[in-house]
Amino acid sequence: MEDNKFNEQITGSRKLLAEDKFRFDCRPGVSCFTRCCKDADMYLYPYDIIRMKNRLGISSDRFLEQHTFQAIRDNPYFPSLMLEMTDDKEKSCPFLSSEGCAIYEDRPFSCRAYPLERAVARSGDENERQVCYFITNHPYCLGHKESREWTVKEWIKDQQIQPYNGMNDLWVDIDTIFRRNPWGPQGINSPELKMAFMACFNIDELKTFIFESTFLSRFDVPQERIEKLMESDVELMKFGFDWVKLFLTGAGPLTKARISHK
Ligand code: SF4
Ligand code: SF4
Repeated sequence: MEDNKFNEQITGSRKLLAEDKFRFDCRPGVSCFTRCCKDADMYLYPYDIIRMKNRLGISSDRFLEQHTFQAIRDNPYFPSLMLEMTDDKEKSCPFLSSEGCAIYEDRPFSCRAYPLERAVARSGDENERQVCYFITNHPYCLGHKESREWTVKEWIKDQQIQPYNGMNDLWVDIDTIFRRNPWGPQGINSPELKMAFMACFNIDELKTFIFESTFLSRFDVPQERIEKLMESDVELMKFGFDWVKLFLTGAGPLTKARISHK
């Protein structure tokens, strides 16, 4: 997410640094327990999909079909992927059980990061990032009235946010390309957008595409990387991002094969 956009969304929130403290606690004893799991407007990111579909033991295709919808939100040039709530009267999250979150260890980034929001600012050098956190506060959330204190660093560790941050940083680079409207005259109806969406969010379809087409003969992919792609969804996700970067900007680590076997 680009820093200026992020700031627009979190106006009024307090900026925190890694060692800054905030008060918060969320546990079954709080009277609002699971209130935030109802009628939530929740963005999902590519790494969220990997964790959730593997937790459920279903394909990414099935996960997208059963649990998500696409909507044009803050980026007019690329649809955001949103978690579909159930149609019960409270619009509960489909993973909400009587005990709380049924997929807790693999819950999406937004659920685990709250009450923090993360902003990433890039300098001219795309490898350099400045990260800061903002504290956000839903009026119904009583966790802010609890006495337990955390530093940002402690919260990140406790909620196991770090792997999500690493993957989401890679996603920010791709999302930034999408925000520049790289689709040409067809805009968001372009077939390239559909390919890019598949490469970012539908990891199992990407795998089929890579291994069951002429794809690998058209790009220089070291054998070692091919083996990793067969075993790891995270490696597939990174590869998908490299491919999107190549076909939309001509840049990135992936290169076309010198001899094409088309
Ligand atoms: S509303 Fe706040 S305190 Fe209540 S369950 Fe959700 S995050 Fe926890
Ligand atoms: S995924 Fe879990 S924590 Fe997140 S909204 Fe659904 S039930 Fe709540």
